[in-house]
Amino acid sequence: MLGPVILAASRSDRMRRLISAAPVTKQVVDRFIPGETVADIVPIIRDLTDRGLELTMDVVGEDITTPEQATAARDAYLELIARLKDLELGEKVEMSVKLSMFGQALEGGHELALANVRPVVEAAAAIGTTVTLDAEDHTTLDSMFAIHEELRKDFPQTGCVIQAYLFRTEADARRLAAAGSRVRLVKGAYKEPAEVAYQQKHEIDKAYVRILKTLMEGEGYPMIGSHDPRLIAIAQELAHQAGRKLDEYEFQMLYGIRGDEHLRLAAEGHRMRVYTAYGTDWYGYFMRRLAEKPANLRFFLRSMVSKG
Ligand SMILES: Cc1cc2nc3c(=O)[nH]c(=O)nc-3n(C[C@H](O)[C@H](O)[C@H](O)COP(=O)(O)OP(=O)(O)OC[C@H]3O[C@@H](n4cnc5c(N)ncnc54)[C@H](O)[C@@H]3O)c2cc1C
Repeated sequence: MLGPVILAASRSDRMRRLISAAPVTKQVVDRFIPGETVADIVPIIRDLTDRGLELTMDVVGEDITTPEQATAARDAYLELIARLKDLELGEKVEMSVKLSMFGQALEGGHELALANVRPVVEAAAAIGTTVTLDAEDHTTLDSMFAIHEELRKDFPQTGCVIQAYLFRTEADARRLAAAGSRVRLVKGAYKEPAEVAYQQKHEIDKAYVRILKTLMEGEGYPMIGSHDPRLIAIAQELAHQAGRKLDEYEFQMLYGIRGDEHLRLAAEGHRMRVYTAYGTDWYGYFMRRLAEKPANLRFFLRSMVSKG
């Protein structure tokens, strides 16, 4: 499978330099990360919300090495939230954050990430919206769930992400469903070893359905993070069986992927939230999108050759 190979190669500095400097990269990156600044992204927020979609905003950047960068990440989210306040979109636009960007991997990282994310959650709540903590590689998750639990004491709407490919996730889902959390379920986008994660697509898909059933039957608010047509149909059926109304769960997809499907689900009356990433440090996010679909990599390589 090409995906794990791309993910492994993406950790090399040489690869990062090569991809970042390639003449065509920006044009391909724009499909997934449609802006670098708050000013770039506001027209996109307006356009998508005008079309009946909701958004979750991700300021890209994860491989930070200093506490100052973590503070800058916090400030970037605060700048965005200040601008969202003027737009008065409330919960239609929420935030997604990666705790690594808030310093989780640095010395004293757990406390540092909590200290940096809390003001973002407070600012989001002050404008009537919320924050979801993204799930990164499996070594970071105990800390992420502990921060999620801590934040929920004051801000119970704070959400988190769980990944169907991890063996641990069925137990996490039962705990979070009983606690009434907002939970986004995704397949999982990192390269994980066979000791902790399913490696085969059909095993991941089956786990996804089992976990989704737990979330739908539980007390919380399920957020179905997938573009997979089969899983979307199953989610609709499970929601129906669990007696959930259309506003008691939502679909989420990534900006730039299956845009017609975003609009179709919204037109059917579903809550459809588009995960929209922006910023300058796009490398990690972009490489995961290439790894998810080898055709993206082929397109990228072909454009490099034709430009070269
Ligand atoms: C809203 C949202 C938030 C996410 N947050 C996280 C997170 O916090 N942590 C995490 O580990 N992962 C996250 N992911 C990524 C996720 O784990 C998967 O890697 C990704 O969604 C692809 O899986 P899929 O369910 O769409 O199914 P797949 O079987 O991979 O894809 C189904 C179909 O969707 C289309 N598609 C999928 N990916 C792409 C792509 N990159 N380019 C073009 N077409 C594509 C293709 O048509 C494909 O056939 C998130 C995904 C979404 C939608």
